[in-house]
Amino acid sequence: MLVRLMYASRAVPAVDQEELVAILRKSKANNPKAGVTGVLCFSEGIFMQVLEGGRTAVNQLYNRIAADARHSDVVLLHYEEIAERRFAGWSMGQVNMARLNPALLLKYSECARLDPFAVSGKVSMALFDELVATAAVMGQG
Ligand code: FAD
Repeated sequence: MLVRLMYASRAVPAVDQEELVAILRKSKANNPKAGVTGVLCFSEGIFMQVLEGGRTAVNQLYNRIAADARHSDVVLLHYEEIAERRFAGWSMGQVNMARLNPALLLKYSECARLDPFAVSGKVSMALFDELVATAAVMGQG
């Protein structure tokens, strides 16, 4: 039983590039053991993350992440049972915002800013799919 979950949250002000690297390092260490894959996006203080894997593993991880003091306003955007993974190649990939074409953000929202709080979960999921399709994800494995 595979599921896909997506949420958004707001980073606390103390979260900087170093903290982001620590989160990614921890994710890459923990997720393979739990059979979880996914992608994390961090832009202008906003996190967006997709988690895929077994239902129990994904739910346990989501509850742990939601309780993490490094972010707040955790909002579940999307949850579905899936037949196959979309992000199987990443224990936790990171969206490379430097390679992000602003036109892609404009395609899905009113301005060229990543704001999952202002759009539907469906739109955020569509944006994630395009980010992966355009190879703007780093951190293979
Ligand atoms: P330990 O690393 O031993 O941590 C023990 C406790 O300390 C936990 O409660 C942890 O939350 C807390 N803690 C650790 N470091 C810090 C710190 N620098 N500041 C504040 N509290 C801290 N974890 C994953 O395993 N996979 C993921 O995909 C993942 N994605 C994340 C995405 C976001 C946006 C955030 C904020 C966190 C994410 N985490 C992820 C981290 C997760 O919230 C837990 O911190 C981590 O899973 C705990 O790992 P551990 O069980 O090995 O405990």
